Amino acid sequence: MKKTDCIFCKIANGEIPSKTLYEDEEFRVILDVNPATRGHALILPKEHADDLYELSEGQASQVMLLAKKMAAQMKEKLHCDGLNLIQNNGETAGQTVKHFHLHLIPRYENDGQQLGWKPSEAAQEELEAVRAQIAE
Ligand code: AMP
Ligand code: ZN
Repeated sequence: MKKTDCIFCKIANGEIPSKTLYEDEEFRVILDVNPATRGHALILPKEHADDLYELSEGQASQVMLLAKKMAAQMKEKLHCDGLNLIQNNGETAGQTVKHFHLHLIPRYENDGQQLGWKPSEAAQEELEAVRAQIAE
């Protein structure tokens, strides 16, 4: 379903113009208006889902195929040195627009971006406790 108050629904369905890189029945790929790097793009499903939890299995399986296609095209055309896929779920995780989107962020040597996390130490017991909590 389309949500009337959702900006990415409007963009994905062409009601608000965007710099579109690709479009098909299910998705639109646009340039991010505040790019982290040159070519920073977003894959938007046309059907609204708040986040990964709400994404249908069909959308979920299609989105990575599309990311792979776009990544190859960006590498060829932009000559980027690397590429990050980022997908935020929930405010705590940095999600600012509540319509699922997958970031494609081309990376260039010395692009000055720092995307990532601070690694920590974890004891084997803690890793085992977490494994059990998730997997059992
Ligand atoms: P996130 O923080 O993962 O929710 O990412 C939201 C992204 O959407 C940010 O990188 C914004 O720069 C981008 N964004 C917000 N509004 C627009 C818009 N109208 N067109 C293109 N990108 C947008
Ligand atoms: Zn939406």
